[in-house]
Amino acid sequence: MYVTASKLYDFIQCPHRVWRDVYGPKEEKVKETNPFVELLWEKGVLHEERIVRGLGKVVDMSTGSHEERFAATIEAMKSGAQLIYQGVLIYENLLGIPDLLRKLPDGTYIPIDIKSGMGFAGVDEEAGDEGKPKKHYAVQLCLYNELLKRLGFAIHDSGKIIDIQQEEVTYDLNSEMGPRTPMTWWEYYESIKKQVEFLINDHERNTPALCGVCKLCPWYNSCKKWWEENRDLTNIFYVGRSFRDRITEDLMIKTVDEFMELDVEDVMKQKEIEKKAGNKEFLYRIGEKSLKKAISRAHVQYKTKKPIAYEQLDFPDVSHELFFDIEDDPTQEFVYMHGVYERSPGKEQFIHFTAEELSSTAEADAWKRFWEYIQALRKDDYSIYFFSKHERTTYKRLQKQYPNIISLEEVEAFFDQTNAIDLYEIVQKCTDWPLSSYSLKALATYIGFSWRDETPSGALSIQWFNEYLKNKDAKILNRILEYNEDDCKATMIVKDYLVRLGSQS
Ligand code: SF4
Repeated sequence: MYVTASKLYDFIQCPHRVWRDVYGPKEEKVKETNPFVELLWEKGVLHEERIVRGLGKVVDMSTGSHEERFAATIEAMKSGAQLIYQGVLIYENLLGIPDLLRKLPDGTYIPIDIKSGMGFAGVDEEAGDEGKPKKHYAVQLCLYNELLKRLGFAIHDSGKIIDIQQEEVTYDLNSEMGPRTPMTWWEYYESIKKQVEFLINDHERNTPALCGVCKLCPWYNSCKKWWEENRDLTNIFYVGRSFRDRITEDLMIKTVDEFMELDVEDVMKQKEIEKKAGNKEFLYRIGEKSLKKAISRAHVQYKTKKPIAYEQLDFPDVSHELFFDIEDDPTQEFVYMHGVYERSPGKEQFIHFTAEELSSTAEADAWKRFWEYIQALRKDDYSIYFFSKHERTTYKRLQKQYPNIISLEEVEAFFDQTNAIDLYEIVQKCTDWPLSSYSLKALATYIGFSWRDETPSGALSIQWFNEYLKNKDAKILNRILEYNEDDCKATMIVKDYLVRLGSQS
């Protein structure tokens, strides 16, 4: 079995996915592609087609069997083709299909991948920060580059990404990953490649760990069954793979039941002894506080089975409470809805500011109307609730895009006012729930709220919006509106529940 770019990508997303794809119970894998994943894929294909169309003459290797395409790619490079599209490179157990292979002036080739994201992570022009390479882009370019070198068509250690803005970004694969990771991208790639080889050959096995990417994974139900049956530690909110693996390796603890019996003081003494003996790896990055927190979460989830607030929770006493949520499509950085569920004495209503077209005029107009609404409210007589930092981050980006609508200082002041409350922050810091996830959906559903839509999700809202752009079907727009309104109402339900929970503390 070949090591491919998609296996390297999967490993970075979830190391278990690589093993499960080969050896997992096939009958438990969901066959249909998640509609959001499909949307991302379609957008990627369209972006790639657009880029390739603009490149002029390319030698197209996108059809045929891998073997045929490999032979033709080698021939094309031998005869000095300038640009090869979807060529196949194979060497021993490695197989790579770079989107493009470009001939350099010295006659060698450089791999180029076309991506529908930014070329670097964390690009922030205003801060003068140029961002840093993305792990999954870097390892894919390393694979292509290794193949080119082994086949005798490259002498350099670099690759390029053409990103969503059609910028070409160069990846120096011999550079260090970062100041705190003194490993080069090549060394990182080599270690990932080795682990992928072990997993696909079943020389090594790892176990599922509940994490952020699981919801979009076709193995979700299958892995969920495993977590539950095995009483795995990643069932506990905020316990991830590395925490779980450290606890299992250093303390031989595998289940939540054993974990709940842990004597934290003893463990911390043991850590001190190990440290003095020169073993700094023992419970690396796990301190007393995080251990205690995880154990108390496990108790709430598996023993008391009731939510708890660790302190009284006070909220502003004002005439108008606004529960606020936005809908945006990160694949095209577009905010299409700002929804507010307004609760005033004797009156509740849903208000929305929607961009019904994919244009900056429509996006700016919806945002402007949102601010006009906010500015018309009597200052200090309203509070605004939301559930994550997403709204704040997105509004700062919108401000950069539309500086004439509102200043950055005003956006900051809006979120910094004491009456602007991120409920997720309160939930995380001051409460615990008998749940693996503290998402708005999980909490509100636990409290008894139900969405009108049978399959509510932010990812589906994006899919519906993209459908609406194509067919302008009012029913679809209404579905998005209902979904957004229900998200706002769910925020209200959670706030009210927190008030009751806090009063019992
Ligand atoms: S469901 Fe989660 S743990 Fe399981 S393979 Fe997918 S991403 Fe990995």
